[in-house]
Amino acid sequence: MYYVGTADLAVYLVHTPLGNILINSDFKQDVPAIKKSIQQLGFSYGDTKILLISHAHGDHDEAIGVIQKETGAKLMVMAADVPAEESTARGRPGAHVDRALHDGDTVELGGSKLVAHLTPGHTKGCTTWTMQVREGTHILNAVIVGSPNVNPGTILVGNRNYPGIADDYVKTFAVLKSLPCDLFLGAHGGYFDMQAKYARIKAGGSNPFIDPQGYKAYVEEREAAFHKEWERQRRKPAAGE
Ligand SMILES: [Zn+2]
Repeated sequence: MYYVGTADLAVYLVHTPLGNILINSDFKQDVPAIKKSIQQLGFSYGDTKILLISHAHGDHDEAIGVIQKETGAKLMVMAADVPAEESTARGRPGAHVDRALHDGDTVELGGSKLVAHLTPGHTKGCTTWTMQVREGTHILNAVIVGSPNVNPGTILVGNRNYPGIADDYVKTFAVLKSLPCDLFLGAHGGYFDMQAKYARIKAGGSNPFIDPQGYKAYVEEREAAFHKEWERQRRKPAAGE
């Protein structure tokens, strides 16, 4: 598994003998940088066979339609995010979803297997991907966190467009806490302190991305932040609600 994204917007490439899987596309303007990273690894952009996303927000999926057109890759998206993925509204990818996924579904190619975990709230179909990867003789459990974040302005109490949103966040934290994690990754580099860990890995020594404690601490901190915001909104619902 390789990182081919930008400084903060993560794109992961899973290389297999039958072609590659890409998770996330970033914005349209990021596609040249992603292509360059794939080439620098010695792989071919045209070998992209499957496209996946963390969740249907533009910073992760705006270019999905472009990459799908250019590579002919099959797009697989959690069912609840399919309408947003196929939308042609401004900033939406307008892509064609080839396969709608459900919680626990697997995506397999050339001996690699990813598991889709529904972690809703941030979007209705927000997906946390897990995969077992080999590092030397070790098998590591990789977790790519979809997003546990409550963005500013998100309505958790009385949300007419998403009535079950708070309960979905509660479910998401239970799922995240249940996942075995060695390799802590996510949709943004900031989730797992990528810049600092990258500096450490360049300096040599053990792989800082193997960080089960960091994962646990991150999920707990994000869960506390969610509960704090939920509590705040329950006391004083947002204006207009
Ligand atoms: Zn998002």
